[in-house]
Formats: sequence, structure tokens, C-alpha cells
Amino acid sequence: MDDSQNKDSEHMGWMQEAMNMAEEALAAGEVPVGCVFVRDGWAIAKARNRTNEFRNATRHAELEAIDVILSDIELTPAISEYPLATTTLYVTVEPCIMCASALRQLGIKEVIFGCGNERFGGCGSVLGVNAELKHPVLPAYKATGGYRREEAILILRRFYITENTNAPIPKSKANRVLKTDIPPAS
Ligand SMILES: [Zn+2]
Repeated sequence: MDDSQNKDSEHMGWMQEAMNMAEEALAAGEVPVGCVFVRDGWAIAKARNRTNEFRNATRHAELEAIDVILSDIELTPAISEYPLATTTLYVTVEPCIMCASALRQLGIKEVIFGCGNERFGGCGSVLGVNAELKHPVLPAYKATGGYRREEAILILRRFYITENTNAPIPKSKANRVLKTDIPPAS
């Protein structure tokens, strides 16, 4: 294997860990998005979406993990300008505008994601918060999608096909079928 193949298999491995967190989110009735933060070859934090649990639309997987990293004295021993400068994020869905901005403020090294986020994506789909948008101080970061993209899309579909079955007036979704065709990345 050459270097890029090695890098790809490394990315696929970490993305599998992120997918495992997305599965956990799905099992808990949350929009299935999962992530893992990797530093020096180690997963320093794993998290998943918890927006329903806390009834708080900002409790995205990325921010959940960031809270853990920044509050752990071993992971963040001193206050520094860019505490994530040596840390790579793997996340199943492109970070939203809010998370993409938080990651830039904390100086994330790089972001690897699964599928794009056409409605809220902050790494190019809606806004290029990671790099395209010029900022006078904050460093840009590289964000690359397409790792386990189809899996990331399919687990979201699995969620949206079953959601609201506990609602007071359930919408009839009995006739819905899981679409498994995936359009090519744009
Ligand atoms: Zn987000």
C-alpha cells in the first residue's frame, strides 16, 4: 500500500468508530450522527447527538465531545489558543454551521466526514465556515467528505422513516419503504 491508501484505510477505520456512535444515537431515538476525535493515533473522545435527550438543538455530537475534551485536565492540561490543533475529527455527517465555527475557533487540525449536509452544512454545502470564509484571526482547516458516505446516508434514512411513531397522532409511515439507492456525490 502506498501512503494515500494507508491514510484511506486509517480514515475508514476511525469512521467506523464514528458510525458505531451514530448507531448508538439511532438506538436512543436521536438523529443518528456520531463522531470521534483522534489525537496521536488515539480516540480521545467519542460522542453522538443528544438533542432530544436534552431538548437542546445545540447538543450535537461534535459539541458533546468537545465538552469532554476541554473539561478533562489530561486531555487539555493548559489553556491554549487552539486546543484542538493536533486533533482530527471524524464525523458521520458534515458538521453544521454552528459546529464548523466552533471547530475553527478551537483550531481543529482537520475534519473527515461521511455524507454532506445539504441543509445545514458548514464545511462547504451551505457555507464554507472551515476555510472559504475569510477570518482575520482564526486558521482555516481542511474538511474532506466521502468516507462511509452511503452508510451515513442510510442510517439517517432509517431514522427518518421511523420517527414520530410515538407522536399523539402518528403519521402513517407504514407504507414507507427504505430507499437504498444513493445518488452520487455532487
Ligand atoms: Zn452541529
